[in-house]
Amino acid sequence: MRESEWRHRVLGIVERGATKEVADHVAKVMDEPCEWQEDEDGAWDTGCGETWQFDDGGPIENRIRYCHRCGAPVRVLAFREED
Ligand SMILES: [Zn+2]
Repeated sequence: MRESEWRHRVLGIVERGATKEVADHVAKVMDEPCEWQEDEDGAWDTGCGETWQFDDGGPIENRIRYCHRCGAPVRVLAFREED
């Protein structure tokens, strides 16, 4: 989806009666991904301060595209062993 179309949709949300707070949140989500960093235990620390653990695989294998907590698109940062 093009950025201009996103903006148009957000403005539409505001026109339909969403609070400015909601519109600001949506605008923020559009701009900032939530970075999920895998730790050495296989848990995922999110950019918004949550920790998630999966029974099997990680966010990619579980098709997580948006953060459960903050709603932002997820950017996955896999754990790397130090050499
Ligand atoms: Zn988040």
